[in-house]
Amino acid sequence: MRALVTGGAGFLGSHLCDRLLAEGHEVIAMDNLFTGSKKNIVHLLGRSDFEFVRHDVVNPIMLEVDWIFNLACPASPIHYQYNPVKTVKTSVMGTLNMLGLAKRVRARIMQASTSEVYGDPEMHPQREAYWGNVNPIGPRSCYDEGKRVAETLMMDYRRQNKVDTRIVRIFNTYGPRMAVGDGRVASNFIVQALQGQKLTMYGDGSQTRCFCYVDDLLEGMLALMKYEGDGAEEPVNIGNTEERSMSDLAACIGKVLSRQPEIEYLPLPVNDPVRRRPDISRAKERLGWEPRTSLEEGLGHTIGYFRKVLSEENAAL
Ligand code: NAD
Ligand code: UDP
Repeated sequence: MRALVTGGAGFLGSHLCDRLLAEGHEVIAMDNLFTGSKKNIVHLLGRSDFEFVRHDVVNPIMLEVDWIFNLACPASPIHYQYNPVKTVKTSVMGTLNMLGLAKRVRARIMQASTSEVYGDPEMHPQREAYWGNVNPIGPRSCYDEGKRVAETLMMDYRRQNKVDTRIVRIFNTYGPRMAVGDGRVASNFIVQALQGQKLTMYGDGSQTRCFCYVDDLLEGMLALMKYEGDGAEEPVNIGNTEERSMSDLAACIGKVLSRQPEIEYLPLPVNDPVRRRPDISRAKERLGWEPRTSLEEGLGHTIGYFRKVLSEENAAL
């Protein structure tokens, strides 16, 4: 297959490029480098089966591809709230452009959706059938509602234009190649702990998330892209099911580092979801997928990555 990965220089996108190439596919990574970095794909430049295109997904593009993975969108709250109008444009116009391309070249397209479509959920754990509890006018809405419209567009292009679509609802995923300044909790805590700073705990640390290691997520995403069975167009939750409070995450990082970092308590951001855990029965039944990496193991790999990146940055000073 020839695959287009939008957001291909980002955290998840760059790992996806690696995986697709390892499976023998050709890959075009497209990215505007807003939160992504050429460093994430520098090892791929120069390969004959890989191309990088610097392009903003809000603008149309013509390419001949068989698969499209639409990951272009800032994912960390600080980045998607930096220019919220652009975030909405990226999800809405970007997904429209990618669906238009998929329609024209008859490509299969996967949209990277998110657990944020469930908002601050009233159903726990969250099943795909749950419609969510999203504030349409809050500071997180540009991301949450943008992704909800992206899902709507996927379903409408399927019904109206017979486009072959897949929707993956990704739950908090972490791992190597998150940016040092990404702003999400796993990378923030790890970078702060490695630099001997206090961990910035928003709220009292009792809010929960489930942290999925990047390798597990990619297994699930690729299995869904290849899935040909009934209901292939329906959204599928991919995430870990082990629910952790943020205090628990901080303690776990301390355990892996063999020293407990100090904590600085800061206000909880507006509309920050209280609890989140995926129901992954659909992924298990249809794809035979479940996560395999424990939080301790995944944090170990991620800490190793950040240790290397930070020491290279220090050496360059
Ligand atoms: P990331 O910020 O590292 O990657 C996003 C990439 O998209 C970056 O390389 C960025 O430069 C690029 N991008 C942003 N706007 C663009 C535009 N207008 N045109 C072209 N490229 C653009 O974040 P990530 O964690 O790798 O997220 C990838 C995708 O997965 C996003 O769509 C995100 O919403 C989704 N997702 C991620 C998670 C997670 O926990 N990692 C959870 C839910 C959903
Ligand atoms: N969080 C935190 N400190 C940080 C960054 C985030 O306590 O430095 C909290 C945040 O308020 C949220 C949780 O960690 O409750 C997960 O935040 P993240 O931005 O990683 O993901 P999301 O909220 O989008 O699930």
